Amino acid sequence: MPNPLRLYDNFTRSLRKFEPLEPGGEVGLYTCGPTVYDYQHIGNYRTFLFEDLLKRVLEWNGYRVRHVMNITDVGHLTSDADTGEDKMEKGARRTGKSAWEIAQLYTDAFRADLTTLNIEDPSVLCRATDHIPEQIAFIADIEKNGYSYRTSDGIYFDTSKQPDYGYLARLDLKGQEAGKRVDVGEKRNPTDFALWKFSAPGEKRQMEWDSPWGKGFPGWHIECSAMAQKYLGDYFDIHCGGEDHIPVHHTNEIAQTEARVGTRLANFWMHAYFLLSNDAKMAKSAGEFLRLAYLVDRGYDPLAYRYLCLTAHYRGQLNFTWDALDAAAVALDRMRQGVYALAQTDAVAPDPKLTERFTNEINDDLNIPRALAVAWETLRGDSPPASRRATLLHFDQVFGLRLAEWAPKQEVAPDAVTALAEARLRARRAKEWAEADRLRADLRAAGWEMEDRPDGYALKRK
Ligand code: AMP
Ligand code: ZN
Repeated sequence: MPNPLRLYDNFTRSLRKFEPLEPGGEVGLYTCGPTVYDYQHIGNYRTFLFEDLLKRVLEWNGYRVRHVMNITDVGHLTSDADTGEDKMEKGARRTGKSAWEIAQLYTDAFRADLTTLNIEDPSVLCRATDHIPEQIAFIADIEKNGYSYRTSDGIYFDTSKQPDYGYLARLDLKGQEAGKRVDVGEKRNPTDFALWKFSAPGEKRQMEWDSPWGKGFPGWHIECSAMAQKYLGDYFDIHCGGEDHIPVHHTNEIAQTEARVGTRLANFWMHAYFLLSNDAKMAKSAGEFLRLAYLVDRGYDPLAYRYLCLTAHYRGQLNFTWDALDAAAVALDRMRQGVYALAQTDAVAPDPKLTERFTNEINDDLNIPRALAVAWETLRGDSPPASRRATLLHFDQVFGLRLAEWAPKQEVAPDAVTALAEARLRARRAKEWAEADRLRADLRAAGWEMEDRPDGYALKRK
């Protein structure tokens, strides 16, 4: 029997055995989605790949997963401290399109990238702007329960009302209060955050709605509390995001849900650690960033990036280098060639011993690098080829490298080479052997090998 699934929960800061809240039911998984004011960078995709692997590991363990992902298309300000501009309105100005148009453009680009990276679609992909009434109702409940206050620019959450505020991030609130150097403006506490922001007087925003508090737009955090509640209920199994979400976004999602219904939203809180570029955070706001399309333009198979992410455990940061991507591309190619070369006809069952070892690795808080090592051992092992192939394709349900679909590209010979081959065929048929040999030598010099067949010939690169 393989070991049961254990996952690292950042809320309790411990490795815990995963047991679904509803035995036999679907596992509820909420993952924070992209802010669609620009393309996603490959760092973002490290997080989305981690979440995809988590989902596949849950499925490997026999669970059905209800996966909800949001699209942030309003309310994410340029500063996490609720100041600055709305990223969407800023993106609209940058591109000369409307905020609604860029939301659609970058949502479509995001979805195309997911397919390219073989990331499974979520069961529900929900936009913040389609859930304004749910967010208003959520804020109204928080207000009713006495956790909010009004300033001149919005409705804020009073974090001092919750003794355990910031527990997820182990925030040192006393330290923050004592060194109150941050300008909190009208906020009562540095950690208080906006639930609803008013449109500035005299300003006509592209995205704004009426509310019981005045015209404006929701704060960034409320969308996730409201949509998670709508699609997964008050308390569900797992909530994920990138490590940057721990101290602010997820901390505030928990605060909101706790204020409304008294739960901490999810049983497990899991986070992917950052992809770094030159040992620094890769960030869209920094202007320069690496898109998936840029890797493809440079001739990389996008799944080489997926492979690269498989080689590092999600709970450690990963520094992106072109050398590392090259190494991943080579490894992926070898694995594909290896699987392709194994017998393709017999349908046999995966090897139970190797499958158990593989399961133990992935069930150990998604130790995918070690699971990859088991895959390499399988490929190079001495069990019958059909069994090795079946085992590797089975593992690929988790890796998602599309190993079953891969085949070497049939190279089309250039016209000049085909002309030489045709001439040689004619010479051979006319039994002009010296001429036939001369043409074969010409073909070899051009880098091609000609194989004589009863019905003609085949050309292969040398
Ligand atoms: P955003 O579009 O900024 O809302 O981010 C989408 C997801 O990518 C979030 O889960 C972030 O935590 C995550 N993320 C942002 N930057 C990085 C990075 N450099 N490496 C890994 N994940 C990231
Ligand atoms: Zn979120």
